Amino acid sequence: MPVKLYNTLTRVKEDFRPLEGNTVRIYSCGPTVYNFAHIGNFRAYLFMDLLRRTLKYNGYELKHVMNITDVGHLESDADEGEDKMEKAARKENKDPYEIAKYYTDIFFRDMDRLNINRPEIIAKATEHIPEMLEYVQEILANGYAYETSKGIYFDISKLDKYPVLSNRKLDEQIAGARVDVDEEKRNPYDFALWIKAPQNHIMKWESPWGLCYPGWHIECSAMGRKYLGKQFDIHTGGVDHIPTHHENEIAQSKGANGCIPAKTWMHCEFLQIDNGKMSKSLGNTYTLDNLIEKGIEPLAYKLFCFSSHYTKKLNFTWEGAKAAQTSLERLRAGVVAHLEGTEKIDPEVIQEYKSKFKGAISDDLNITSAMGIVWEVVRHEKKSRDFWNLLMDFDQVLGLDLKHVTRESLKKEEQELPDEIKAIVEQRKQARANKDWTLSDKLRDMLQEKGYTVKDSKEGMTVEKA
Ligand code: AMP
Ligand code: ZN
Repeated sequence: MPVKLYNTLTRVKEDFRPLEGNTVRIYSCGPTVYNFAHIGNFRAYLFMDLLRRTLKYNGYELKHVMNITDVGHLESDADEGEDKMEKAARKENKDPYEIAKYYTDIFFRDMDRLNINRPEIIAKATEHIPEMLEYVQEILANGYAYETSKGIYFDISKLDKYPVLSNRKLDEQIAGARVDVDEEKRNPYDFALWIKAPQNHIMKWESPWGLCYPGWHIECSAMGRKYLGKQFDIHTGGVDHIPTHHENEIAQSKGANGCIPAKTWMHCEFLQIDNGKMSKSLGNTYTLDNLIEKGIEPLAYKLFCFSSHYTKKLNFTWEGAKAAQTSLERLRAGVVAHLEGTEKIDPEVIQEYKSKFKGAISDDLNITSAMGIVWEVVRHEKKSRDFWNLLMDFDQVLGLDLKHVTRESLKKEEQELPDEIKAIVEQRKQARANKDWTLSDKLRDMLQEKGYTVKDSKEGMTVEKA
């Protein structure tokens, strides 16, 4: 049974087969490392990981590239505002390379916390400047670009069709006036390939047009071609990439190579908060650390994301996150029950579960359906090592680190209080030592509100998860 994937380009779910042999070549747009990645960003990387794991589960090899944007991403995707890296560097009074290193390291720490497998190739934009320059020169030589006082621009009127990924109507958008009016541009939607660096721009490189830096879109085109060739299998990103970034990547590839770079384009919908977008610019984001402070493990956030298909919006709430934490704990307890189980299960039953799970996940990553099967196995009345083995097989796709779950790890987890709770317990001990009963009661209520029961006895206080 082939894997089926929804393709934004054709707007249908298609049977997937690699262009060449058994290796799937994938390009994923990675983070711009000017700040902490938030849980919304990580929804996109969890989707990327689920795709990787599903393809591997189906026996494919992967050659997967993810970029790190450390230069050239302006405040608006459509060439407006300052370079995000330079702005952060100025604000934090640091070198942009220092900023990039700091946030890249934290990004990968969080990827590990979520048990996201790393793409085979991680490509930093600043390490691929010559490839980008060459790409721009090819586009120019083919007649798809022109020079202005600001840089080298792509001429979209030279294309057979623009846009191709989104349905947006360009004329309507111009009336909406979020497009800058640059008299030198031939068409309002022409975009910068190569930007002439202002005097104070720190990151800039020699080129035939003086000191410049690359446009964000050219980065992905050049790095994708370098590692995956002119045409590869899958390109992923968030839905916000559809109207500008990916549209422009397609334009660039047509200009340089005469083709659309990827066969299948896949996009992850947004994580929302209060039913609006969660984004750095709106200042309504949470990081994994914010979740951990409230006793929610990164893997519980992963489970939370598994409650919705990647093409659907998902609304983040603390109640939902707490429910996911409880589910994770129940799942682990269920895994241990099977680990210790002694029943024998008919291999046909196991095979049936396996094929149902594989069918669900291979149907455009239908994780909600796949999780339904996982829970059926976890909750099965017969407790059996055969089911444990089956769950370990499923975990190749889920990546919930189930093989490390044991009776001992469960016990340890029960005893382990989150740092925030430990701090309140310490404060309450102090209050009791000071005979400050009002404060002690207030702190007990706080613990209860956070889902912990408090018992006071002669021996002291015990705090447990309710
Ligand atoms: P950035 O670092 O801003 O370039 O974004 C990195 C990735 O996160 C991109 O693939 C975005 O599409 C994605 N992204 C940003 N905000 C959200 C969100 N609220 N929910 C899901 N994905 C998001
Ligand atoms: Zn990209």
